[in-house]
Amino acid sequence: MLSVDLKDMKTFSYFVCPDCGSVTVSSSSVSVSCCSKSLKPCLISSEDSSSLALKVEDDELFVSINHPMTKDDYITFVALETYDGVILRKLYPEWNESLIFPKRRGRLVWGLSSGEGYYLKVSM
Ligand SMILES: [Zn+2]
Repeated sequence: MLSVDLKDMKTFSYFVCPDCGSVTVSSSSVSVSCCSKSLKPCLISSEDSSSLALKVEDDELFVSINHPMTKDDYITFVALETYDGVILRKLYPEWNESLIFPKRRGRLVWGLSSGEGYYLKVSM
């Protein structure tokens, strides 16, 4: 197992529009507005290993969701940040399918409809 040194990784900002659900990703400091509102970046505050379950198979990373995914409380996006980029998946209420990412070291970041965000390191 190799550990991921987060300080060497590029970090991204995620903006989720509360009205239309659109997700915008930025690699630098920008101001984003959608549906005539200025958006604040999702605060990726702490590590959480309970909301997503990871399984590596061959060259793929399967991510299953342990979250209610109701209309009022759901994960709006999951992103895999690697040292040179980001792969983004948009999620919707009632969506409980597994997500499939290419197998990469980095960190998974996700945001809730409440605006909170979490991360989980991915090492392999
Ligand atoms: Zn919008």
